[in-house]
Amino acid sequence: MRALFATDEAGGDPHRRRHPESMRSRRHWGGERGGELPAPVTHRSRHRLPRYTSDLGENSLIAPQRETRHDVRMNLLRLMVVAAAAIASSLFLAAPANAQDAPAAAPEAAAADDPWNGQIFLTFDDGPGGSYTDEILDVLAANDAKATFFMIGQNAQRDPARVRAVLEAGHTLGNHTWDHPDMTTLTRAQMDAQISRSQTLLESFGAEVNCFRPPYGAHNTTVNQAITAAGLQRQLWNEDTRDWSKPGVDAIVDVLLGATPGDVVLMHDGGGDRSQTVEALEIALPQLAAKGYTFGITPKCSSTA
Ligand SMILES: [Zn+2]
Repeated sequence: MRALFATDEAGGDPHRRRHPESMRSRRHWGGERGGELPAPVTHRSRHRLPRYTSDLGENSLIAPQRETRHDVRMNLLRLMVVAAAAIASSLFLAAPANAQDAPAAAPEAAAADDPWNGQIFLTFDDGPGGSYTDEILDVLAANDAKATFFMIGQNAQRDPARVRAVLEAGHTLGNHTWDHPDMTTLTRAQMDAQISRSQTLLESFGAEVNCFRPPYGAHNTTVNQAITAAGLQRQLWNEDTRDWSKPGVDAIVDVLLGATPGDVVLMHDGGGDRSQTVEALEIALPQLAAKGYTFGITPKCSSTA
């Protein structure tokens, strides 16, 4: 498989290099999710114990007349046994009631605690990527999905028609540098140039570009400062489909189906053969939609207008 990566199309697959960012467990929230999901609230009502007062009615075992000291003791003992039995039976009866409470409360709590309104954030890097971008636009449209496209400036310059197609379909652009360097290897001036050259090009299409994704997720303090100085927000991801490695359609589908609201999912429309990505989206998006999820733009990349 290594050989396949090495013979990837001209320029290679820019995401084949492993980086700690992409080595994260896909269930590990890397802080790019907009926040931690609140722990699910499980409501368990405390059932009040029945109050045993003097009103024991017909169950009263207290003999009404001529009680001896022994009788009183025996009656107290019997009363305690009856009370214990009543408490035990009330607990037994309370158990099914609790079991019924839990599922009724859970969906309500989940909806109230979801700050993302059921949205999953799909992102596509390294484009425009020729006909793969077209196919991804088609599958997104078929599922009423909006996504963020982190374009490489020089790719956008070569294919302005597809930049316009992405924008006209209502998607959002993100800045992914001019030519995809590892930003941590650059001088601060070079970082600034990578960001600003791409930003100027993307904005020339009328796009509002609010976020930046460093290639390979590689960043350090200076990179972060350059991003901030450009007025952009850094947008990484927390779900990596690893589609760049062509792991097979099923593997990409599995990651997609594991997404839950708030997840930022990394995929690629550019940089190589993305037919597996397209096919996986065709399978997974309708299933995610059937769960009630929608697909939108990450808060960091969204329009500020
Ligand atoms: Zn990239």
